[in-house]
Amino acid sequence: MARKINFNPGPAALPLTVLEQIREQIADYQGKGYSLIEASHRGKEYEEIHNAASELIRETLKVPVDYKILFLGGGATLQFGMVALNFLSAGKSCDFFLTGEWSKKALADAEKIGRVNVVFDGSIDNYTSLPAVSAVKYNPHSAYAHMTSNETIHGVQWQEWPDTGHLPLIVDMSSDIMSRPVPMEKIALAYAGAQKNLGAAGVTVVIIRDDLLERCPDTLPSYLSYKVHAENNSLYNTPPVFAVWVMRLVVEWIKAAGGLGAMQEQSIKKAEAVYSAIDESGGFYRAPVKTHCRSKMNVVFRLPNDELEKRFFEQAQANGMVGLKGHRSVGGCRASLYNALPLEGAQALAAFMKDFAQKNG
Ligand SMILES: *Cc1c(COP(=O)(O)O)cnc(C)c1O
Repeated sequence: MARKINFNPGPAALPLTVLEQIREQIADYQGKGYSLIEASHRGKEYEEIHNAASELIRETLKVPVDYKILFLGGGATLQFGMVALNFLSAGKSCDFFLTGEWSKKALADAEKIGRVNVVFDGSIDNYTSLPAVSAVKYNPHSAYAHMTSNETIHGVQWQEWPDTGHLPLIVDMSSDIMSRPVPMEKIALAYAGAQKNLGAAGVTVVIIRDDLLERCPDTLPSYLSYKVHAENNSLYNTPPVFAVWVMRLVVEWIKAAGGLGAMQEQSIKKAEAVYSAIDESGGFYRAPVKTHCRSKMNVVFRLPNDELEKRFFEQAQANGMVGLKGHRSVGGCRASLYNALPLEGAQALAAFMKDFAQKNG
């Protein structure tokens, strides 16, 4: 089996050992004679996975006891609307950091429910910068502040956490969850689709502080209420059992690899390798994002012209590297360096980039 070096932005690379565990167990889960995905979500097998996944996430991310961990469907995209439906009642406003394509989408959904104050507008410089956290002015009457910790498409990542005081901070962590330690006590609600750093598409993790649950209106349809999911340990309806199983194995793998400190150390090395290849290319490669907020998860860069970018993708592919195309909305190149991409993968890309620049510069 020849596995590619996989820079896909999401769904993305998984640890090979996780895929192998699934392959071994897929038709006959722990010798039961049936698959986990053929069994009741209220049965013993799934119950163990569900609770272990939750406990592993709590332990690894150091989630305090007064937070619930929920497993929902609908992707991170459902959260754009669900956050607003639960906390942005009529006449209320929320504060938003507009930092790239994903926060733009979240903002557009929030605007359908209530008023949005943009406390930082990154569109002015094409989403290549972030504010200094001390410079941000919040609106004291807002219901919450929303940020996207890593903008997957534009390659912008927060390096410090804003202090929003009494204003609950809500974070879309879809593309950098578990890539570094996070001060959960500063965050009221975090959400993340699993298909970048946590496993397969289908489950979204929501980590929510208990006091927020009291604000969820009883008038919401059941599935849209965080309170309903919290009261039912995410078993109000059938949870995405396969995706939760994969996630449990991925978080176990993270833990065994040394936890978030080790993930962060690796991701710094991976990002350094690729950004060095850009910065030392004498202008052949260009990274549009300002140095202070360059993403360690999604490295965005350009070549001198479209023709060279095309050749770059073709030759990368021929060298066993896939997933390097930028998002269709922005073009260019993007190397996604999530947890499951080994350091050697990033080093191989950096070596290829140097060689390509020499031959085509
Ligand atoms: C991928 C992504 C999303 C969308 O996730 P879906 O699961 O496709 O809804 C939202 N926010 C960020 C930051 C993402 O990277």
